[in-house]
Amino acid sequence: MQRKYVVITGGVLSGLGKGIALASIGNILSKDYKVIPIKCDGYLNVDPGTMNPTEHGEVFVLDDGGEVDMDFGHYERFLGVNCKSDWNLTMGKVFREIRIKERRGDYLGQTVQMIPHVSNFIKNHFIKIGEESKTEIVLIEIGGTVGDMENELYLDAVKNLLQVVGKENVVYIHLTYVPIPYGVDEQKSKPTQQSISLLRQKGIEPDIIIARCSEMLNKNVRNKIAKSSSLDTEKVITGIDVNDVSKIPLVFEEQGISQLLARKLNIPIKPDLHTWGELIEKRENPKKEITIAIAGKYTNLEDSYASIIEALNHCASHFSVKINLKWIDTSNENEVDLTEVSGVIVPGGFGSRGTEGKIKVIEYCRENKLPLLGICYGLQMMVIEFARNVCELKDANTTEVNPNAEHPVIHILESQKNISEKGGTMRLGSYLAKIKENTKVHALYNSTEVSERHRHRYEVNQNYHEILQENGLIFSGMSPDNTLVEFIELKDHPYFVATQAHPELKSSLLKPAPLFSGLIKAAIEYKF
Ligand code: GLN
Repeated sequence: MQRKYVVITGGVLSGLGKGIALASIGNILSKDYKVIPIKCDGYLNVDPGTMNPTEHGEVFVLDDGGEVDMDFGHYERFLGVNCKSDWNLTMGKVFREIRIKERRGDYLGQTVQMIPHVSNFIKNHFIKIGEESKTEIVLIEIGGTVGDMENELYLDAVKNLLQVVGKENVVYIHLTYVPIPYGVDEQKSKPTQQSISLLRQKGIEPDIIIARCSEMLNKNVRNKIAKSSSLDTEKVITGIDVNDVSKIPLVFEEQGISQLLARKLNIPIKPDLHTWGELIEKRENPKKEITIAIAGKYTNLEDSYASIIEALNHCASHFSVKINLKWIDTSNENEVDLTEVSGVIVPGGFGSRGTEGKIKVIEYCRENKLPLLGICYGLQMMVIEFARNVCELKDANTTEVNPNAEHPVIHILESQKNISEKGGTMRLGSYLAKIKENTKVHALYNSTEVSERHRHRYEVNQNYHEILQENGLIFSGMSPDNTLVEFIELKDHPYFVATQAHPELKSSLLKPAPLFSGLIKAAIEYKF
């Protein structure tokens, strides 16, 4: 089969969910074909690793250590693939490569220009990734909305892709918005029509329009949109607002998207969304209800913790339980109220703000036997709390917060000491841990070897390993060379478990992350 490309562009507004839409299409296709995603971001950062998560959402980390856009979380969860960092193009990466090529002399004698050189570079990158990954279908998401200056070159590249690979091998999908203004109470197609017209000016004829709307599009509006893009009405489908993004593959398939794609790409597609649908059904009809608190400092933007929320959703399906989230902003210590809560997560984080609040939360959980899962910075805070209150090492801290702490129980990794550049230099990506038998972590993973993804600079200081363990902290998982604490737990506590890794990044609806399952199981037992 010739390789196929499914391209999605966006119009009218940003944030309509192009990533979810394309991941959902990928989910439908992935039953029959090997599908991989490419995401193109317009910004000049090389990767999102240096951006504040409250602006761009969480930084997603891949097995290979790539720090990529959070949409890769959706792609991995929906497609069941392990993505690679060069599948996330940014203008920062593109220009870095162009500059290297120019200095090397690849363009000798030429004036290097946006078009054709940069545009061709991008187009060739799409083709190269398809070849290297030996994939059958490449999904390409162009970030931003049509008309943004940042994304012009990506649009030019996907337009030219058609000439190289042929019309029957590319499908262009345009995602737009149909508002229903207050007082007018009518679906309005004009913004979508204008956006399609803008897309056509760029030389791209859409094959399918997905219009986001709070209700199903009526026939009249679909007709109008179809006319403006010279399409049949059936090619205009509704991206209806849902309370759970996992429903989108089902929403699209109900409207026949797989057959639209099959006809355009000339391939058979027989999606099977049965198990997926059943799992969603289970969390839609929960048997129980619990509240889990997330104690962090970025609580004003839930996207900062997107993968944690998803991992909890996966557990909600498997345990058929409704999980209410309670956000606790630990930079405001007065906010800490854990009554009504059956389990707590202390997520990853950086810097000093909110750390004392987290330590307070941890102390409460330890003393009241409230189930607690610590992730990355969460593990470090749990070690600090344990050092201070159980080992009686007053002033125990991480050198990230207090470089002069009397007891630096958390300190910088040896390998990080001489690093001064900030971009892409943390301990990143998948690392193996050896798991001790007869521990909760072992029971949950059912394995003595576990590989999870990491993103950190600090670790538990080896000078304190002995005293922490003597006082009862169990190091349930260590790096293979026995130097780095990867998992901890307590014996006489229903669930006081933490990891230096980010297990939420590999959780999926079909296979929830074991440490999250452990937390939810313990939280249900705590409450009932
Ligand atoms: N700030 C901590 C470190 O760098 C934890 C990082 C994290 O939670 N991702 O080690």
